[in-house]
Amino acid sequence: MAEETIFRKIIDKEIPADVVYQDELVTAFRDINPRAPIHVLIIPNKLIPTVNDIEAEDELVMGRLFTVAKKIAKEEGIAQDGYRLIMNCNSYGGQEVYHIHMHLVGGRALGPILLS
Ligand code: AMP
Repeated sequence: MAEETIFRKIIDKEIPADVVYQDELVTAFRDINPRAPIHVLIIPNKLIPTVNDIEAEDELVMGRLFTVAKKIAKEEGIAQDGYRLIMNCNSYGGQEVYHIHMHLVGGRALGPILLS
């Protein structure tokens, strides 16, 4: 079985985080090391370590990540200007926390996506 990460403690409110949204499927909180004026992580409440571990039964929760991202972008006032949604997978993808998370990044113009 996959090991829980620090994000489990955030979902369960065992450690403090700036939670901006939570429902029965997902939790969203501000990144502790923001790379833009708005940087929110949206995660499934269920542990899915990487994108490689997503199953067909997870399609509802994966869709919820997007609808919650859209809602937060609107609330944060960045929907019209635009923003970026990023999900890193494994070491070459730059993943550090093995509980999948969607980065919602915005509030400034972002450069071209890094492909190097
Ligand atoms: P990734 O590199 O895609 O795995 O991103 C992990 C993200 O989690 C990084 O942007 C970190 O800044 C963020 N992070 C790690 N620990 C915390 C925490 N306790 N609260 C909020 N964000 C965190």
